Amino acid sequence: LGSRISGAIQRLNTATVIDDKALTICVNEITHALLQADVQFKLVQALSSNVRKSVEKLAAGHDKRHIIQKAVFHELRAMLDAGKPSFTPTKGRTNVVMLVGLQGCGKTTTCTKYALHYRKKGFNPALVCADTFRAGAFDQLKQNATKVKIPFYGSYTETDPVVIAQEGVRKFADAKHDLIILDTSGRHKQENALFEEMRQLAAATNPDLIIFVMDSSIGQAANDQALAFRESAKVGAVIITKIDGHAKGGGALSAVAATKSPIIFLGTGEKADAFETFESKAFVSRLLGMGDIAGFANKIKEVVPSELQPELVQKLADGNISFKFLCDQIENITSMGSLSQLMSMIPGFNNINVQSFDIQQFRKYRVILDSMTNEERNSSSLSESRILRLAKGSGTSVDNVQQMVNHVKTMSKQMKGLKLNKKGDLGKGKSM
Ligand code: GDP
Ligand code: MG
Repeated sequence: LGSRISGAIQRLNTATVIDDKALTICVNEITHALLQADVQFKLVQALSSNVRKSVEKLAAGHDKRHIIQKAVFHELRAMLDAGKPSFTPTKGRTNVVMLVGLQGCGKTTTCTKYALHYRKKGFNPALVCADTFRAGAFDQLKQNATKVKIPFYGSYTETDPVVIAQEGVRKFADAKHDLIILDTSGRHKQENALFEEMRQLAAATNPDLIIFVMDSSIGQAANDQALAFRESAKVGAVIITKIDGHAKGGGALSAVAATKSPIIFLGTGEKADAFETFESKAFVSRLLGMGDIAGFANKIKEVVPSELQPELVQKLADGNISFKFLCDQIENITSMGSLSQLMSMIPGFNNINVQSFDIQQFRKYRVILDSMTNEERNSSSLSESRILRLAKGSGTSVDNVQQMVNHVKTMSKQMKGLKLNKKGDLGKGKSM
């Protein structure tokens, strides 16, 4: 998505006159890219027309490329803004939170993640399994909760989820737990039985917050699904799961638009700590392929040995990125597993198929690096004649070398916005 949008804007730049026709072509291209990323048609239409308006308002002489890019960014962020904050648990009272969503969307997994998040903030959470529909539902919750030592409640014999929910909430409220999280059942399809059960559970436990959990890979179905849940429950917040997979993320915008509720967290993996507080800026950056610089830098810091960190942080902050640095970072990332998630955070890498990049592209980078002189390796750009020589010398192509040059350029440019704070930590990335 990012490359298609920047490509469209780039072409606009090469046009000698940016007339109405050139602008139309550019906006159409952006429209197609957004639709492919599963952003809902209605939303894309609104976005395109707003982008057009912000460009047309401009007097001649302004940098239209930058304006368009900025407008797309701001429009997407505005769409993720539900216009109202979500309920957040507060200390000194019993907070009841209920999770709803289709089967397999990640409710049970998310319950534990949510509980852990608030335990770190000093809450005393407990889980209630009100899913009597799926065989093994209670065992799954029990296992997850036991692993991280969070109290849980459920039953192997009771078949009425409302009875279990009521008993569980009462038990944990009496025991002075200040955050009670209610896991509910899903169905494969949106069925009346599911929505009726949700209504009964809400009536019986009176939750402070109902969270709609949505699998990010459902694509264009996001809108209808979110609408259906909102109609049957007072949804107050959204959690999007599995964004570590191949999902394109556009469905999240639909969920906010349909439920009129903010996204509060993202599920980024199967493990209990694979959970992020939702930040619209970072999310849109990733969606557009601009990279989540601060997030990337912090992830890298997690995997780089601490004695090497000051040097790394300094290099990042200087925007002083050489070819060798690029290769070393890829190597670091490859050695840690969770490749796709990390890659998506690096500017210029978001649109590369990670699996194939790993084996093919990276090998080529390494071969090219091996053909470089030391001086070249530690530099961040190459002249045309050197590109030619390296392509020949390494047995790759001019395109391959050029690609590597472009990656280093993008990384350097974007990393430069990073600031070091007094502790030597990385601050926020450059804003648009
Ligand atoms: P439920 O039916 O809604 O309760 O869904 P579960 O919590 O049982 O999750 C269904 C599957 O999705 C399980 O295999 C989970 O491990 C997996 N899952 C849940 N959240 C995530 C996530 O954020 N990323 C990934 N990769 N898998 C997830
Ligand atoms: Mg479940």
